[in-house]
Amino acid sequence: MAKPLVVIVGRPNVGKSTLFNRMVGRSAAIVEDVPGVTRDLNYLDAEWEGKPFIAVDTGGFYPRHDENIFVQIKEQALFAVQEADVVIHLLDAKDGLNPFDAELAALLRGSGKGVLWAVNKVDTSKQEPAVLDFYSLGISEPVPVSAATGYNFDELMEKVAALLPEPAPEEAREYPKVAVLGRPNVGKSTLVNALLGKKRLLVSPVPGTTRDAIDTLCTYYGRKYLLIDTAGIRRKDTRGYSIERFAMVRTLRSIERADVCLVLIDAAEGIVAEDQKIAGLVHSRLKGAVFVLNKWDLVTEHDKVLAELMKTLGRKLWFFAHAPVLTASSLERTRITKVFPLVDQVMEARRTRIPTAELNRFAQDISLPPHKGRKVKIHYMTQVAVEPPAFTLFTNFPEGIKPSSLRHVEARLRKAYPAFAGTPLRFFKKPRK
Ligand code: GDP
Repeated sequence: MAKPLVVIVGRPNVGKSTLFNRMVGRSAAIVEDVPGVTRDLNYLDAEWEGKPFIAVDTGGFYPRHDENIFVQIKEQALFAVQEADVVIHLLDAKDGLNPFDAELAALLRGSGKGVLWAVNKVDTSKQEPAVLDFYSLGISEPVPVSAATGYNFDELMEKVAALLPEPAPEEAREYPKVAVLGRPNVGKSTLVNALLGKKRLLVSPVPGTTRDAIDTLCTYYGRKYLLIDTAGIRRKDTRGYSIERFAMVRTLRSIERADVCLVLIDAAEGIVAEDQKIAGLVHSRLKGAVFVLNKWDLVTEHDKVLAELMKTLGRKLWFFAHAPVLTASSLERTRITKVFPLVDQVMEARRTRIPTAELNRFAQDISLPPHKGRKVKIHYMTQVAVEPPAFTLFTNFPEGIKPSSLRHVEARLRKAYPAFAGTPLRFFKKPRK
């Protein structure tokens, strides 16, 4: 189930980041980081009373305060209207009403989105009359709040939670859901257009589960695949806000909905930090990956470049070093349909189940470093889930199994079972009964 987006908008200095930090507070620690991959801190997982969502701080996308505020306000509004499930327009009680607030409120009011108007910096109930000013924006019921002290924060979050969409029932899983990802200009739309233009591919548009997302169901040699948000990929720069600025949020949304992600890399330019971030997000969301080294037509020394790219991939994207890699040219339409058998392969990997008896034999051969002078032993091991595969290790000393030990177990498991290539794996630890 894809998590809904709660987007905070408002002019600079109203306290967007403070509110964002309070919203993601404790839950921020839940998402496991891939060591060595820097994470964007402008969108993070949050939860209110068991309802999970992703909070987005639009202020974080404008790191320089001198960036044109007209542009900021307009882009924030368009982005929120396009992408958000719930919008919080944050106002500032200390500053009072401001023409930019009016402009932003007007853009949001007519959008048909769930919008909450929150008046920040109301630190105590005595200051509540300050919200009265804001009724002139033509909005319903501004909510007083103090992001800094937490005053009335729970009440605001109740209202947010009430506007969150009900989780849709899990769709029937007859076909893999595939997201096409990559940094701007890597060739995503060229690839999607090329794939959908293939004669052998029967395609039909399917409205997506998220707002205006249009997915495409295609059939390749009798097998079905759902390409996620093809409309979003193909529609270029028509939304009126900087796609590049907010690209990661859109990427995250697609990852949330996917089983397998095609991560496009510009073969001519090599693997850059943004590729690492995207792959890191895919991994943290426990989705499968296929790497497409696109623009292969621009590469002249094929063997040399491939060897170099594979080496860099192993180093910068080590957590996905097992994933399939395809060289392709979306422009010349070479090898692009090879993505489908690779998607099948990764789906198989995600559904692979190893019998307990085998895993127990495997576990016998694993030796782990001692912890605080105590021996650490895995007594049994069992696979508890698929999509992605998850394992429970029964041990004499759960705290003694450190992340580095788990990485060792994972590496050994992958070596013993190459069928897991392309999917992340999960591990749980339990004391032996
Ligand atoms: P997107 O932003 O990821 O959707 O990228 P586009 O599909 O818009 O492609 C950006 C530019 O790269 C366009 O000029 C494409 O023609 C070009 N391009 C895309 N794929 C290839 C490829 O395989 N080879 C070459 N040479 N150019 C490509």
